[in-house]
Amino acid sequence: MPDASAQPTTDADRAIPGPLAGYTTLRTGGPAARIVAAGSADEIVRAVRTAAEPVLILAGGSNVVIGDAGFPGTVVLVRSRGVRVIAEDATSVTVRVDAGEPWDDLVATTVANGWSGLECLSGIPGSTGATPIQNVGAYGQEVAETITGVEVYDRIQGTRQVIPAADCGFAYRGSIFKYVDRWVVLSVDFRLTRSPLSGPVRYAELARALGVEVGDQVPLADARATVLRLRAGKGMVLDANDPDTRSVGSFFTNPVLDRATYD
Ligand SMILES: Cc1cc2nc3c(=O)[nH]c(=O)nc-3n(C[C@H](O)[C@H](O)[C@H](O)COP(=O)(O)OP(=O)(O)OC[C@H]3O[C@@H](n4cnc5c(N)ncnc54)[C@H](O)[C@@H]3O)c2cc1C
Repeated sequence: MPDASAQPTTDADRAIPGPLAGYTTLRTGGPAARIVAAGSADEIVRAVRTAAEPVLILAGGSNVVIGDAGFPGTVVLVRSRGVRVIAEDATSVTVRVDAGEPWDDLVATTVANGWSGLECLSGIPGSTGATPIQNVGAYGQEVAETITGVEVYDRIQGTRQVIPAADCGFAYRGSIFKYVDRWVVLSVDFRLTRSPLSGPVRYAELARALGVEVGDQVPLADARATVLRLRAGKGMVLDANDPDTRSVGSFFTNPVLDRATYD
């Protein structure tokens, strides 16, 4: 399987033939008519704008099921990388993260830098650009709590814009970006708190594993290590040598009930 993370310099180089199974965590997926690896926001926009429909945006491949028939059009692989501090003050730092940045690398970086806000989202596979789409969340945290804006390419208008968090329609495992082909996420801004401690632990299982009460705060590294340990115990940390971890994560979501139904 060719290395799709390579940064080819010409469109000819970017044409990577081969089955899509090599690009998905389920290891399923037949061939695509064309596969283009895009290494920057400009390249992503150009690839999407110039490709004939149908077009599939594919990043970490950890939340897709592609059949043996493959995909009849162009697959644009999101491979842009970069984390930049765009604003900071005494209590917070805002980072702009390119869509293709591997999510868990970003979480590890924030924990190492003493930036609190993403630590409970450790060990989730995939790309940063995909996280706003279903408002990725786990162990009591979700990205909607720290995202301040999402830079997108609008495939209908053919324009680039930053959508402020308030207009992203974030909900439990949802946003305006989900189930529509209109938006291509190019980068995501997160405002994180300068703190050696996690946010208050909200998830009972995590609190138990940490030996603290719900609502307590713990060192960022402890939160990350404990989340990774809990995930690994459920086969939820991808391991290339362990076929049991070939998955798209949990496909269950928590039921959300109104008060009357709950009663
Ligand atoms: C072991 C495991 C554990 C997981 N745990 C969790 C969890 O705890 N919480 C959770 O919320 N999710 C979890 N997931 C699901 C998954 O990791 C996330 O949804 C992740 O954000 C998907 O990222 P990706 O880059 O792999 O997306 P892909 O699988 O490449 O794409 C998913 C969808 O998003 C679209 N997309 C991807 N990138 C972009 C972009 N830049 N712009 C526009 N559209 C785009 C694709 O077209 C596709 O429709 C888990 C998955 C696995 C395999």
